[in-house]
Amino acid sequence: MGCFFIFTNPMEHFAIIGSSPIMMLEAIYLANHGKRVTIIEKSPELGGAWKTFSHKQYNNIELGCHIWEYNKSSYKFIEDNIGIELKKLNPDPLFIKNNIKLHYNRKEVPVILLRTLKHIKEFNFYSLFSEGIYFLKNKLFFRKVDYYYAKNGCNDLTLKLVSKIKNQNTIDLEHLEIKKIVSDNNSVELIGDNKSVKCDKLILPSNFELDININSEKLRLKVGFDKEIYHCFIVCNKSDLLSDFTYLRFIKHPIFHRVSNASFEEFKNQFPEKALLVVGVLAKAVKKENINQLVLEELKNNNLYNGIPEEMFWKEYKSKEYENSELRKVQKKSGGKISYIDTSCLSNGIFKQLNRWGDLRI
Ligand SMILES: Cc1cc2nc3c(=O)[nH]c(=O)nc-3n(C[C@H](O)[C@H](O)[C@H](O)COP(=O)(O)OP(=O)(O)OC[C@H]3O[C@@H](n4cnc5c(N)ncnc54)[C@H](O)[C@@H]3O)c2cc1C
Repeated sequence: MGCFFIFTNPMEHFAIIGSSPIMMLEAIYLANHGKRVTIIEKSPELGGAWKTFSHKQYNNIELGCHIWEYNKSSYKFIEDNIGIELKKLNPDPLFIKNNIKLHYNRKEVPVILLRTLKHIKEFNFYSLFSEGIYFLKNKLFFRKVDYYYAKNGCNDLTLKLVSKIKNQNTIDLEHLEIKKIVSDNNSVELIGDNKSVKCDKLILPSNFELDININSEKLRLKVGFDKEIYHCFIVCNKSDLLSDFTYLRFIKHPIFHRVSNASFEEFKNQFPEKALLVVGVLAKAVKKENINQLVLEELKNNNLYNGIPEEMFWKEYKSKEYENSELRKVQKKSGGKISYIDTSCLSNGIFKQLNRWGDLRI
């Protein structure tokens, strides 16, 4: 009877490359729907651009300088389904161009228009409709919206998903760097240096570059250009901060990409007298040996911080610009054996999956 069941209902095996939060959510969703899932992650830690790290006495520091873009449905999903308590970012996040500070929401009008045009080109009516409603509701009249963030920092989200993945016995974790993907009508093979993994279906993140061979046709997945950002962490006295801010995004600044002190609740609770700033620095703009000095000068010039830091340390994480047309080609050519999820932005990425993930509970 058992054999008969296995033979007639083989458990479909999905492989997922990468472990950013959206990919972890997809893994949990598939496992909840009776699929066998293997997450393939080359890095020893899970989380992708949202992973956490420890430095000396400071634990669970969030890698990036994150913001959760405003999306009411995604916020609700994060609160109700993932069980993360949100709080309003206070002060509001700002974007800064030529010393002009604007509410974060207002920069997006041209971006949303461009995105809408892209959806028209792609004939993705669901996205077009939802984007249109979002635009009319929130952007057209430059209405200010509030931004929320995890009350305990975004590491709350990453750590919760990682713990769920590790405790779910239908999700396997394979720490392996995939060098090539070969797909035919029967299966998909993911090939690393010393090991390969076979699966029935593969799901890719949208930030992905690799050689893919589909029914003997060779394709090269390539995202747009690299936008390399160093993340500089500064431990300092709270009293040396010159202004009150949570999250600042710099547009066309020669050095800064983002500056934030929003996301380190664990740190704030542990060291109430100190502040931990994260500064995203455009790698192209600086020589490594000068970074500390330049960052401190720029923080002072921008009236953010003027002091002698207790400590400065660095993490690198490459960010990419996305171009999904090749992913769509791969999806089509593989007959759906290889598909992808839009991972380019956390809130919008979650929003795009809500029609499937609606019943997902973490
Ligand atoms: C530093 C930084 C800050 C960001 N901040 C925000 C933000 O504030 N808000 C927001 O919405 N978005 C932000 N983003 C955008 C971010 O890219 C997405 O939110 C999301 O993390 C992208 O997911 P991803 O899976 O495409 O890529 P990543 O998060 O980069 O994850 C990809 C994972 O795949 C693994 N991997 C890659 N290639 C292979 C391979 N060949 N074999 C095995 N494993 C592989 C990597 O090790 C990595 O863990 C940020 C991105 C970066 C880099």
